[in-house]
Amino acid sequence: MITQNSGLRRFNIHNFSLPAWAGRLPDGRTYNTCPAAGVCAAVCYARHGTYRFPQVKAKHERNLARILDDLPQWEADILAELAHPRFRGGVALRVHDSGDYFSDSYTLAWLRIARAVPDVLFYSYTKEVDRFRRLVEPDPPANFRWVYSYGGKQDHLLDPTRDRVADVFPTETAIAEAGWNTNADTDLDAVLGPNPVGMAQNNIPHLQRRIGARTFREWQAAQTARTRTVSRTTNHR
Ligand code: SF4
Repeated sequence: MITQNSGLRRFNIHNFSLPAWAGRLPDGRTYNTCPAAGVCAAVCYARHGTYRFPQVKAKHERNLARILDDLPQWEADILAELAHPRFRGGVALRVHDSGDYFSDSYTLAWLRIARAVPDVLFYSYTKEVDRFRRLVEPDPPANFRWVYSYGGKQDHLLDPTRDRVADVFPTETAIAEAGWNTNADTDLDAVLGPNPVGMAQNNIPHLQRRIGARTFREWQAAQTARTRTVSRTTNHR
């Protein structure tokens, strides 16, 4: 279940993936692994390119099916994988290069896994602000790190003066001009480097055209304001 995608292999980072956002498993069950996704879902990198290769998609779907079928067994299986010697000596595991912490019980399982394997640094980008406030922030394992990434429905809960946050910018130059800190040297800078963290858009031309020059934070804020205006207008009818 744990693998190394091409983007993270060069940093010797392992990863665990779910199918991104919403879909249907081969057995007909529907899912949403990113319930807090906002504008990011419209330009989700994990729904394009290699992520759509049949064998890659099938692997991610198998991971999710195992979690949904039997969470305790999945947890035991992940722990068995992490017992392999290749996970000794300070390696990092990115939980979700696609997908997110989609339920409380699933999130708590990862916290137990991190506590059981203190040698491994577990880290994630997440949009699950409310869930992390309740379940993770009060007592996080020392080897479990996260960064809240903008572009989700819970952006308004974030406070960049106290939260570690990441935003997607059009270019590296835009990150520098905003005074944010790039994670271009290593993905681990997202959780171990200085805060706040800027990431340049993925090089996928049709998605870049859709995002334009705005950051995910700006795009989500405009989207949220528009939704509130529509809702107020509707309520006054
Ligand atoms: S949270 Fe990540 S994986 Fe999920 S829809 Fe957004 S960009 Fe895609």
